Amino acid sequence: MAYPTGNLMAGKRGLVMGVANDKSIAWGIAQGLAAQGAELAFTYQGEALEKRMRPLAESIGSSLILECDVTNDEAMDAAFAALEKTWGKIDFLVHAIAFSDKNELQGSFTENTTRENFLRTMDISAFSWVAVAKRASKMMQSGGSMITLSYLGAERVIPSYNVMGVAKAALEACTRYIARDLGPQGIRVNAISAGPMRTLALAGIKGGRDLVGTGRNWSLLKEDTTMEGIAGCALWLLSDLGQSTTAEVVHVDAGFHVVGVPDGLEA
Ligand code: NAD
Repeated sequence: MAYPTGNLMAGKRGLVMGVANDKSIAWGIAQGLAAQGAELAFTYQGEALEKRMRPLAESIGSSLILECDVTNDEAMDAAFAALEKTWGKIDFLVHAIAFSDKNELQGSFTENTTRENFLRTMDISAFSWVAVAKRASKMMQSGGSMITLSYLGAERVIPSYNVMGVAKAALEACTRYIARDLGPQGIRVNAISAGPMRTLALAGIKGGRDLVGTGRNWSLLKEDTTMEGIAGCALWLLSDLGQSTTAEVVHVDAGFHVVGVPDGLEA
């Protein structure tokens, strides 16, 4: 994959949360930012994932790699304390974290959703955005920019997306409320609603991989959403190019989100 090189992020430092492997959306975004001169720190969820992501981070010159499970307040405090100790301040944050029990990402939302997984999904996939935005904002005293990753399932019903769609709706609402609070501090807060990408997270949704073909065939551009496209949008929002844009949910999905009736299904 080729990410355009330049200096749009020169002198800027930021934290990327959510790289699990080289297919992760957070990794595509990280590469795009690094190609524009950004200095990056990373968090990973646990030891098993560290093994895969550490070499990736190091390949783009990052050595600040911290463990952070977002269900654990102490772990979040420790990660941000370590970041603050090393860098003092940051300019941007990428939140690309979500989780739900895959047994509930299939069939009937109404029948299959348990209280336990509903709350866990909301905790990891929506509340964690609030929790990390709060901590990151303390390190952005002279302004900054934050993004999270959403999906069309927040706005429309998508087969099997179920409780994750509810969490994405909350995530997008959280984006607007965080943006309100942090606006006076010069911090912009936005979400990218990405089209389907072949990642671990997509594999957890029953029939998730079929969404890639549907996304391509029914999209306005008649093509897959690309990692370069998502990374390009992240670069816009996280660099000074994105000034004046906040509380926005930007769709990067080849135009799929506006389609009411797909071509060929009129009758
Ligand atoms: P991924 O599996 O590569 O990334 C998900 C990340 O969430 C992983 O790094 C995982 O470690 C992290 N995570 C889960 N639980 C965590 C916890 N308790 N603490 C810390 N980290 C935790 O998949 P991805 O598709 O790159 O997902 C990144 C984001 O993009 C997610 O929010 C996802 O919903 C969103 N998204 C994905 C798609 C898609 O089609 N893949 C489309 C739109 C939005």
